Amino acid sequence: MSETKLPGAVRLRVAPSPTGDPHVGTAYMAMFDLAFARREGGRFLLRIEDTDRARLHAGSEQQIYDTLHWLGLSWDEGPDIGGPCAPYRQSERLETYRPYADRLLAQGHAYRCWCSPERLTRMREEQTRRKQPPGYDRLCLGKTEEERAALPGFSPTPVLRMRIPDDVQTAFDDLIAGRIDAPVPDDQVILKADGFPTYHLAVVVDDHLMGITHVVRGQEWISSTPKHLLLYRWLGWRPPRFAHMPLLRDEHKAKISKRRNPWARLTWFREEGYLPEALVNFLALQGYPPILEADGTEREVFTFEEFAERFAWDKVNPAGSIFNLAKLDWLNGVWIRRLELGEFTSRLLPFLEADGILPGHPSLGELGRLKAIAGLIQTRMAKLTEAGDLVGPFFVGDDAVEIADDARAQLDAQAPVVLDAAIRALGDIDDHAVGVLGSESAWTAARIEADLRAAIVTGLGVKPKVAFGPLRTAISGRRISPPLFESMEILGKTSTLARLAALRATV
Ligand code: GLU
Repeated sequence: MSETKLPGAVRLRVAPSPTGDPHVGTAYMAMFDLAFARREGGRFLLRIEDTDRARLHAGSEQQIYDTLHWLGLSWDEGPDIGGPCAPYRQSERLETYRPYADRLLAQGHAYRCWCSPERLTRMREEQTRRKQPPGYDRLCLGKTEEERAALPGFSPTPVLRMRIPDDVQTAFDDLIAGRIDAPVPDDQVILKADGFPTYHLAVVVDDHLMGITHVVRGQEWISSTPKHLLLYRWLGWRPPRFAHMPLLRDEHKAKISKRRNPWARLTWFREEGYLPEALVNFLALQGYPPILEADGTEREVFTFEEFAERFAWDKVNPAGSIFNLAKLDWLNGVWIRRLELGEFTSRLLPFLEADGILPGHPSLGELGRLKAIAGLIQTRMAKLTEAGDLVGPFFVGDDAVEIADDARAQLDAQAPVVLDAAIRALGDIDDHAVGVLGSESAWTAARIEADLRAAIVTGLGVKPKVAFGPLRTAISGRRISPPLFESMEILGKTSTLARLAALRATV
């Protein structure tokens, strides 16, 4: 298919390799790709780069789909949905690369190399020892198979290498950093002994055939770009524009890695109870400024759509930024509070199921109670993983409330008196439904609070600050819990009194 017939004013792709848990950088690239594609009325593609067979990881491709979908970063063309350039998985395109490799060989831009892996290792060690620049020493250049076979370190299955010219152009214009001068490349392998192309050949052929207009990738690929530009030139193709994104760095300013930083894994954010809205917002702020309002103020909280509408490459800071998880926690709290209550409630379900608090398919009654509790805790949470602790006590039997050690330790000599007074005062509240519709009961948070204050603060003269500690412990087993009087209303009179009595029996 020719370039001009492909849909989209611009065409961008994210091209992850399925080598394990998806890296947070994949989402970062995808976001910037998608923002620009949306702004320009273009297309966003997902391509799976699986030519490095040794590093493949079963299940990783599915995780890439799942995590990008979870973030709402959906693609217009890809292996799972097809498109005009299918297939979008490189292992299914092997036939595509071969003729280009042959062409480069025939034109003298590439040559066969029979050096064995052992010879190459020795060569590299030697170069390091002599403090020479690393790179292939061209032992095979200009030799026939026979000539080469006569020398040591020969392997019968050759690879194909690019013949980098002496006057290789290493400078190029980057959409983010401007003019970049990359290092001089060495004779890069483009076809491996197993017949698979390397990343360098496959990426150029695919980006060209898929009509990619803008290549967005991390700065770690800057040194590869001169090789790619050479391949474009040799194959007679117009190269795309390049945007090399700043590296995401940890607090030590090191490039984040899955080995050192658990949060380099995209799935980590989901497991830890972050909202996709918050992670997208957070990633948009990495090396990119907040939204500048008309009145000159800056706004850090924004949706992907708001980000995409204003997107421009020249706003990206090539120096990047440090990954600040405290900032992400803050953003997550903001986004949690923005959710509509029903939505917030359903986002809690997988976490409560994982904690064994609710079944996978809760009953209507359980859902109703959860929604009531959700309303009490929505403003108090930074991460969805905190829900289990707050919600758990509402879904256990009254005789099974676990009293945390620190909560029990706080109970002082006054606790029995306070509990007795509470039991008396609450026992007097009529919880039977009254009124025309039979729906109003006196058992409300307001009435509970008023009567407990009267009995304990006024009646016993206990300071309000300490008056309700034993009650909170009885109801939730914790020092910190959702608001007490509302919790009692949700639990109902019978449960509330049973829990107060259960704690009273132990103090
Ligand atoms: N497969 C490469 C990666 O995993 C893609 C690099 C590129 O976007 O050119 O990062």
